[in-house]
Amino acid sequence: MVADYWTDGNWSLPENLMLARPNILSILSNFAISNMDKEDLLAWKSVENGMLSIKHAYKLLMNNKTDKIFSWPWDTDVAPAHSMVCWRLLHNKLPTDDNLKIRGFSFPFVCSLCCGHMESSTHLFFECQFAKSIWNWLSSQFSCPMPIVYLQDCFLVLDKPWSSQARAVAKACIMHTLYLIWQARNQLRFDNKHTHWKSCVSKIMANAKMVGNLTKKKANDYMLSFTFLKSFDVKLNPRDTIAMIDVIWSPPLQGWIKCNIDGKVDGSLAAGGGIFRDWQASHILSFSAFFGEGSRVVEEFMATIMAIEKAMMMKWKKLWIETDCKLVVLAISNSNLVPWSLKSRWLTCWEYTLSIDFRISHIYREANFCADFLENIGFRSKSISWFSYVHKEITKDYLLDKIGTPRLRLIC
Ligand SMILES: [Zn+2]
Repeated sequence: MVADYWTDGNWSLPENLMLARPNILSILSNFAISNMDKEDLLAWKSVENGMLSIKHAYKLLMNNKTDKIFSWPWDTDVAPAHSMVCWRLLHNKLPTDDNLKIRGFSFPFVCSLCCGHMESSTHLFFECQFAKSIWNWLSSQFSCPMPIVYLQDCFLVLDKPWSSQARAVAKACIMHTLYLIWQARNQLRFDNKHTHWKSCVSKIMANAKMVGNLTKKKANDYMLSFTFLKSFDVKLNPRDTIAMIDVIWSPPLQGWIKCNIDGKVDGSLAAGGGIFRDWQASHILSFSAFFGEGSRVVEEFMATIMAIEKAMMMKWKKLWIETDCKLVVLAISNSNLVPWSLKSRWLTCWEYTLSIDFRISHIYREANFCADFLENIGFRSKSISWFSYVHKEITKDYLLDKIGTPRLRLIC
């Protein structure tokens, strides 16, 4: 454990280890160790916050190859029984005759619905005349130029530019169709009860109307979605109204220093930026930094840590950090949100914030443009730079902030 080799802020390693690994101290110097009296923690490297959960362990074992298509059937707008048939079909787990044959069953393999073909998943759900009649009707409802003849066609249908409300109804129709075909097959085979395809259509229409009217998903202005929803007598859910609000950068109180920070990740590379200003909105210091390999969350924390560490160095006692990342704001009261690789540095910063007048707040990016531009500079320069002057690329926004210019933000 780290605690065994860390005494009074220094590494005390066994001699034989130093002899075996002469460069070990220089490697360890790259890691910041908090002097806080906290127990060592084991961190799960492949998870951002270092905490292992069953979900992450499963993803790791699956090599992060969980195919989206297999989670596709599960949807809050779809009845679980309908989703289950679809899920079993996707996994080829329905006990159709072809699957039973593979498992050693031996009896006449004939489609119960048409008695003219051997039963397989493909035949039963898409090639049998019973299924074809329903799919042809549904294809016309979807305004499809070609009828649905494969399961893949269903996915293509949902890729059309539907409103989210219309897509929910279309998906419910597809899953309900699969469910009703399977139900009709079972009723005929085991109860000798015949189902007409038109009665399935009636059920699909009734279910579509119910799903469309119960879903909270929204409609849009496109005619395709409008006519589709109206064909099932669905009441359109109006979109949320869009409002505009003013976002204004405000200076700190007298004696305080405010630092706006921002981070950015592009691919696997990360950068950050920050600007310190006083109560008169005058520039004190700013920085742009390139962090190299990083994730979407790490760069926001890195920029915050850089700002607080600078405040520690300058011995500033009244510090206000402002960021457009809500996670960083929450992390001040919950260190479990901090990426494990930065936790030690973060705890040192957090300890410092307890000893001074400190606040952290969230701001929309429209009033955080100076930090936004600085982070872009860091990305381009691929280095860490500190500026004692207002960088020419942020001059315009710096002046707009200084005179309290409001920026517009659209909100739903
Ligand atoms: Zn058939």
